[in-house]
Amino acid sequence: MKVIASLFLSAFATVAIAQDRDWSAAQQPFTIYGSTHYVGTAGISAILVTSPQGHILVDGTTAKGAEVVAANIRTLGYKLKDVKYILSSHSHEDHAGGVSALQKLTGATVLAGTANVETMRTGVSPKIDPQFGSLSNFAGSAKVRGVTDGEVIKLGTLAVTAHSTPGHTAGGTSWSWQSCEAEKCKNVVFVDSVTAVSADSYRFTDHPEVVAQLRSSFATIEGLKCDVAIAAHPEVNDLWGRQQRSANEGSAAYVDTNGCKTIVEAGRKRLETRLVSEGK
Ligand SMILES: [Zn+2]
Repeated sequence: MKVIASLFLSAFATVAIAQDRDWSAAQQPFTIYGSTHYVGTAGISAILVTSPQGHILVDGTTAKGAEVVAANIRTLGYKLKDVKYILSSHSHEDHAGGVSALQKLTGATVLAGTANVETMRTGVSPKIDPQFGSLSNFAGSAKVRGVTDGEVIKLGTLAVTAHSTPGHTAGGTSWSWQSCEAEKCKNVVFVDSVTAVSADSYRFTDHPEVVAQLRSSFATIEGLKCDVAIAAHPEVNDLWGRQQRSANEGSAAYVDTNGCKTIVEAGRKRLETRLVSEGK
């Protein structure tokens, strides 16, 4: 009975945490390092990189979360019309659902991996998506342009590099840039989702090309200069623990040269576990 009770309690605790970290719920914005600021919701990352010549937003969170992101940008003292680019990690509702509304509010150009451009425009995912059939459609965005691996987006003093990290989606993209505090510059990486997640009927073992994409994305992310890693799902690299520690440690709490590797390890473990379970 005790065992059952504790199982019940731990299940309950998990649910409570999940509710605390609702994908669309409000979240106070905060600075991660230098010009890099968290403007996302309680459960989904959105990052504003600022410069005197204009700003770059990475991801829009959910359709409901767009309001949170817009309010957070204003709370930090920045103007929505100064956001010139919205970069997309991948075209699923939890990260891209808010992009259409944020594009309208800012007038920004939306940039996504070439293979995800169509989905960003229509809000409808293609059949090749492992999660096809279990995904929610979302509002398609205006002014979407494709980027290729290694392309550098420049805006004033900002330079953000696109890194193609497909597998979770065909056009998945991670983004890197430098942010500085005083004279100390850090390499910041927004790491796209690299999780092997699918609709119930999908088997990764039937799609070796997708498995190969995920593995090559792991290698790409591990190979990046990475001092500050921000995952599309913030808890994947303990953003909330870091935020708590930053009360005492300042921005050093976010600096972790193993951050990208930690995110990859989680993705790799999930993929390998999944492939084993499909083989049974
Ligand atoms: Zn996704």
